[in-house]
Amino acid sequence: MLHHYDTRTEPGERLSVRCRNRRASVCAPCSRLHAGDTFHLVRTGLTGGKNIPAQIREHPRLFVTLTAPSFGSVHRATTGGQRCHPRRNAGTCEHNRPVSCGTAHDPAASVVGQPLCPGCYDYPAHALWHAHAGQLWDRFTRATRRTLATAVGLPQARFRDHARLSFAKVAEYQKRAAVHVHAVVRLDGPNGPHTPPPAWATPVLLTRAVRTAARSVFVRSPYSPAVGELELRWGNQLDARPLRAFGDTEGLADDAVAAYIAKYVTKGASDTAAGTDYRVMTWGDIDAAAVSPHIRALMRACWRLSGLPEYEPLRLRAWAHTLGYRGHILTKSRAYSTTYTALRTERADHERAGLPVPDTSKVITDAHWRYLGSGHTPGASLIAAGIAEDLAMNRAVARDELRERGGCL
Ligand SMILES: [Zn+2]
Ligand SMILES: [Zn+2]
Ligand SMILES: [Zn+2]
Repeated sequence: MLHHYDTRTEPGERLSVRCRNRRASVCAPCSRLHAGDTFHLVRTGLTGGKNIPAQIREHPRLFVTLTAPSFGSVHRATTGGQRCHPRRNAGTCEHNRPVSCGTAHDPAASVVGQPLCPGCYDYPAHALWHAHAGQLWDRFTRATRRTLATAVGLPQARFRDHARLSFAKVAEYQKRAAVHVHAVVRLDGPNGPHTPPPAWATPVLLTRAVRTAARSVFVRSPYSPAVGELELRWGNQLDARPLRAFGDTEGLADDAVAAYIAKYVTKGASDTAAGTDYRVMTWGDIDAAAVSPHIRALMRACWRLSGLPEYEPLRLRAWAHTLGYRGHILTKSRAYSTTYTALRTERADHERAGLPVPDTSKVITDAHWRYLGSGHTPGASLIAAGIAEDLAMNRAVARDELRERGGCL
C-alpha cells in the first residue's frame, strides 16, 4: 500500500470540493475562477500564449456583435432627455394600449425592456428565434467562409486548403430578454493559429464578409398550423470591428475585449434579463418564478409551443428557463485557443509543484466516493464567508497598490 486516504478524520467525515458553478449568484469564488479561465481562453486566442503563437496578433481579428431582430416595441433606456418611443397622434393598438411612449427612462428602471403592449409582442417568434439561434450562428460562420472564398475567387471546397476561420463567442441576454452574440473572429492560415493567413486575408475583407454573411443567412422554423413558417434572421443592429494589432492605434484593444467577454460568462440567468437559474418543471413553477411579466410571458410561450408536435425537437419545455435558448454561454471553435480542461490541468500541476510525483504507471488506484450534498453547513458557511471577505480585502489592497504604481489588474 503506497498511500491511503479516507474522510474519517475530516470535519464532518466529509471532503469538500469546488462546486465549479460559473454563476456569481450561485458561488462567488468558483465564478471568479471560471471568469479568469474564460479570460485566458479568449485572450490567448487574441494575443497568443498557452501554445498559441504570439504572431496571431498579426492575423485579421474582429470583434463582432450580432443581435436578435425586433419582436415588438419595448420601452428603452434613454439618455440626454431623449424619449422612449415618441410618436405624435399615434393612438392606440387593437388592445387599447398607446403605441407611443413619451417618457425618458433611466437604464435601471424596471419598465426598460418590457413591451409597450404584451398583446402585440410576438412571443412565439421570440421563443422560436432563441430555439434556432445556434443553427443561425452555424449558418453565419459557413456563410462567412463562403463569402470569403467567393471574394478571392476560390472554389468553396478549397477554402480549407488556404485559410481557417476560428471564433469564440458568448451569448448575452439584453434587457428585452433576447440573446445578443458577442464574438471574436480570427482568420488563420490552413493549419490554424500556427500558420500565417494568406496574403488576401485582410481585416477589411473579413469585415465585409462578416457583414454580408450576417445579412444573408436565415433559418426557417418547422411549419406549424398554429404559427406558420417563420424566416428567422439576425437583427439589423450589427457591429464588426477590427482588433488592434501591435503598434496600431486604430481599433479595439484585444485585452479589453477578452475582459469584456469573460464578464458575461459569470452572469447567471437570474442576474440578467433572462429566465431562472433552475429548470422549470411545471406550469406552476413559471407562475411562481421571481421574474418580470415579460419573462414570464416568454417562459409561457416556450411551454405552450412545446406542446405542438412540430416543435418537439426544439425541447422548448426543457429550456423554458433560458427562454428557449439551448446554447452554451461560451462556445469556441476547436482551433481558436486552449481549453478549460487544459487550463484546469495546468492549475492543478502548478498547485502540485514541488511535491514528488510518483510513478503511477504500475499502480492500481481504488477509490469510492459518494456525493453527500452541496453547500456549506451553517457553521462552515460562517467560516467560508470570513475567508471570502479576507480574499476580497486582499484583492482590493493589491489592486489599490497596483494602481498607485500605475499598473492595472
Ligand atoms: Zn463553488
Ligand atoms: Zn417607454
Ligand atoms: Zn397591442
